Amino acid sequence: MATRALESRFEHLSVNDENEPLDGSKYLKSKMTNSAAPSSSQLSQNASRANLHKIALQNQSTTSTIVAVPSQTAQWRASRIQNGSGSPARKENSGASSEFDETARVEPKNPLYDLPMPKQFHLGMFEIGRPLGKGKFGRVYLVRERNSGFICALKVLHKNELKHGDAEKQVRREIEIQSNLRHPNVLRLFGHFHDSKRIFLILEFAGKGELYKHLRRENRFPEWKAAQYIAQMAAALQYCHKKHIMHRDIKPENILLGIHGEIKLSDFGWSVHAPSNRRDTLCGTLDYLPPEMLKQPGRVKNTYTNRVDLWSLGVLTYEFLVGEAPFEDTPVLTQRKILRGEMTVPPFVSPEAKDLITRLLVLDPDKRISLDHVQEHPWIIKYCVKGERKTMRESKKPDRKDSSSDRKE
Ligand code: ATP
Ligand code: MG
Repeated sequence: MATRALESRFEHLSVNDENEPLDGSKYLKSKMTNSAAPSSSQLSQNASRANLHKIALQNQSTTSTIVAVPSQTAQWRASRIQNGSGSPARKENSGASSEFDETARVEPKNPLYDLPMPKQFHLGMFEIGRPLGKGKFGRVYLVRERNSGFICALKVLHKNELKHGDAEKQVRREIEIQSNLRHPNVLRLFGHFHDSKRIFLILEFAGKGELYKHLRRENRFPEWKAAQYIAQMAAALQYCHKKHIMHRDIKPENILLGIHGEIKLSDFGWSVHAPSNRRDTLCGTLDYLPPEMLKQPGRVKNTYTNRVDLWSLGVLTYEFLVGEAPFEDTPVLTQRKILRGEMTVPPFVSPEAKDLITRLLVLDPDKRISLDHVQEHPWIIKYCVKGERKTMRESKKPDRKDSSSDRKE
C-alpha cells in the first residue's frame, strides 16, 4: 500500500534525540546550505531547490498509487476488505471502526488519544526547499528527507507565538488527531519534533496547494468537479466520523489538493475526538457554522454531534457551485440567516445539486442526509464513471473475488 511504503521510508531513519536542541543558527545553516548540500538521497546527489519540486512530483506519482478520486477511494476500500483488514471481526476488535485504516493493522493497540509512536526526527534530516505558504503561527516549507529523498512539507510553528495566540491546545490536538488518520483524502501527518523555540510538523506534501486558491481563480467550479470534490470530502468525513472525529472547521481554506488534484482534508486544529459524539464548544468559522453551534436565546449550552460536518459540507457544496457561501452577510445577518436556514440556490445550479444542498442544509441535524447517502446521491453518481460506482458497491461485499482493481486506474 502506498502510504505504508511512505511510512516505512521514515521508519528506517536513524533515531536521534527528538528534542535535540537546535538553535537558530543550525536551522539557518541548514537552510542556507540546503540548495548546495550534498545529499545522500538515492534520487539525486545534488538536487537544487528547483529540483525538489520535480522530485516531489516523482515521489507522489510513484508512491501515490491511490489517486483519490471517488472511484479510487472505493477501490482502496475494496482492497482493504479483500485483504481481510476490513472484516467485521476487525471492527469489533478495534472499537472505533478502523476498516480503512492502515494503522489498525500495524499498531492495533494504539488508541486514538495516545500520542503517536515517537519517531525521532530532527531538523538536520531535512533539506529545506521553497516556502509553500505562511499560516497564523509559522511557515510551511517543501522539504526532502536526506536519506530517502522523500519529499514532504515541514510546518514550522513558533512556540511563543502559539502561546500568545492561545493556540497550544489546538496544535496538540492537531498532532494527536491528524497523526492517527490514514485516508487518501486526509492529509497525513507523519511525525513531529521540536526544539526550544519551535514545533515542526512533518506533513504530506499537497502538490496542488490550497483548494481555496483554485476556487478563487475559477470563481466557481463546474458541476462535475464540485461533485467529485464533494464525494471525496464525504469519504474523508465518513472515515473521520467512524473514528469519532468531528472536523468542525470544514471550509475551502482547510482543504489542500494532492498532486493529482485529489482532496486532502487538513487543519484539524478545531477537530475533536468525541467518543460520546456530543460536544458543546463553540468554534469554527461563522459562514460554515451550523445552527446548533450558534448561541440561541433561551439555551444555556448548545450540544451538537458530528452532523455539524454535514451542514458544513452543504455550505461547501453551495460555495463550490455558486462561488460564495450561502449565508454570507454581516456577522449578525449571517447568524440570523443560518438560524432560519435562509438561503436561495441560484437557477444556474442543477436541480440534482440543489437537492443535495437542501438535504444537507437542514436545521434539524438528525434530518440531514447521511454521508453514506451523500455518496449515493444522484448528483454524485451522475459525475462518477458507471463502472467505478459498481466497484464502490461491490466493495461492500466481503466475498468479492476480483482483487485486481486495487491499483489500476
Ligand atoms: P492556519 O494557521 O489557520 O492553519 P493556514 O492553514 O493558512 O492557517 P498553514 O497550515 O500553516 O496555515 O499553511 C500555510 C500555507 O502553506 C497554506 O495556506 C498552504 O498554501 C501551504 N501548505 C500548508 N501545508 C501544506 C502541505 N502539506 N502541502 C502543500 N502546501 C501546504
Ligand atoms: Mg492550514
